[in-house]
Amino acid sequence: MALDRKTPNDLNAFWMPFTANRQFKKAPRMFVGAKDMHYTTAEGRQVLDGTAGLWCCNAGHCRPKISEAIARQAAELDYAPAFQMGHPAAFELANRIIEIAPEGMEHVFYTNSGSESVETALKLAIGYHRARGEGSRTRLIGRERGYHGVNFGGISVGGIVTNRKMFGTLLAGVDHLPHTHLPAQNAFTKGQPEHGAHLADELERIVALHGADTIAAVIVEPMSGSTGVLLPPKGYLEKLRAITKKHGILLIFDEVITGYGRLGAPFAAQHYGVTPDIMTTAKGLTNGVIPMGAVITTAEVHDAFMQGPEHMIELFHGYTYSGNPVAAAAGIATLETYKEEGLFERAAELAPYWQEALHSLKGTRHVIDIRNEGLIGAVELEPIAGTPAKRAFDAFLKAYEKGILIRTTGDIIAMSPPLIIEKAHIDQLIGTLKEVLDTLE
Ligand code: PMP
Repeated sequence: MALDRKTPNDLNAFWMPFTANRQFKKAPRMFVGAKDMHYTTAEGRQVLDGTAGLWCCNAGHCRPKISEAIARQAAELDYAPAFQMGHPAAFELANRIIEIAPEGMEHVFYTNSGSESVETALKLAIGYHRARGEGSRTRLIGRERGYHGVNFGGISVGGIVTNRKMFGTLLAGVDHLPHTHLPAQNAFTKGQPEHGAHLADELERIVALHGADTIAAVIVEPMSGSTGVLLPPKGYLEKLRAITKKHGILLIFDEVITGYGRLGAPFAAQHYGVTPDIMTTAKGLTNGVIPMGAVITTAEVHDAFMQGPEHMIELFHGYTYSGNPVAAAAGIATLETYKEEGLFERAAELAPYWQEALHSLKGTRHVIDIRNEGLIGAVELEPIAGTPAKRAFDAFLKAYEKGILIRTTGDIIAMSPPLIIEKAHIDQLIGTLKEVLDTLE
């Protein structure tokens, strides 16, 4: 569909998120269509999607099975409350999620986004301890450079300065582990870096500082995406799991990006062989087509809330659209697509090719680090002194002109293509990026 209104003034009403609005509106980049691996721009150009939208369209774009399931559900049962009422699609989807979740994860709570999944998980963690008679456990521990969405809990445990600093005092009682990005030791590592497992020991210091009986949960992205694709050093997640267990602290994995196949297993928990108590998910759950998130928990977390007279036991938390039928139908069709097409296995099979293609950029102008895991990768550029983030953003603009969509955070270029990607697309993506970098100031 073409945009009828074309003057910059017509673009003013939509206050765009995480976008330099004034700059964008002078030279807007508009997508008007999408199919499989490509977007179509308003000018009719094809742009290869190197980012699966925002790390979410894992099955590629405009998949008929998903669109048809949505249309069917919207015509049959458009909306039903999930408070004191049910409908089959939400239950069906929960079972399908549990089928692919790590052993021991048994319950699903629906949200509408990654941010809401994070808020839900933090509340579940605090409520869990309270329900077990340990109401003093309210402190939360996040990590520097962590991204957990944009709501107050998420930015409090998150560690991205720009996302926090405008917004006041945030949640009280939050500490941050150090981030795990050690470029001096780990630059250009293929896959998980060797150095940095010791950084998990910081958790012992924080526990000693406050007392374990004040701490509810630790939340980390098993692999951080939005902050620039930062991988867990070998042994790091295992240590976090051991220390949290030892002190009765819940471990939350924020799998909003890593969930639903990005690393080649259904979840990063399986990929890394470390199972948390709670996982937050969204994005790939519905292929990004309909907003939906899911918090996945162990029976132990769920059962802690299930004490007392039966008619009074409820979780005092939920959203109008929790388990929305149309979103649930999209989720079922999406998980079926992943399974029928073996897309998680495909991601695992393509990962070595992806790794070698990415690392072939070593030695290209401006490149100071390359990181990869599954079908995700990052190329870090030397910043221009005095204007951080400009070089990568220029690369993004040039790449878009040359027909590939990449994403940048600071001076890091991140890529996370749909899992249906072909080797020829990988060659195009990396080849074009090299051309861009070669001609960049
Ligand atoms: N957590 C993580 C790890 C994420 O990567 C994101 C989104 N990039 C979020 C939470 C927030 O998700 P949403 O934008 O759907 O609120």
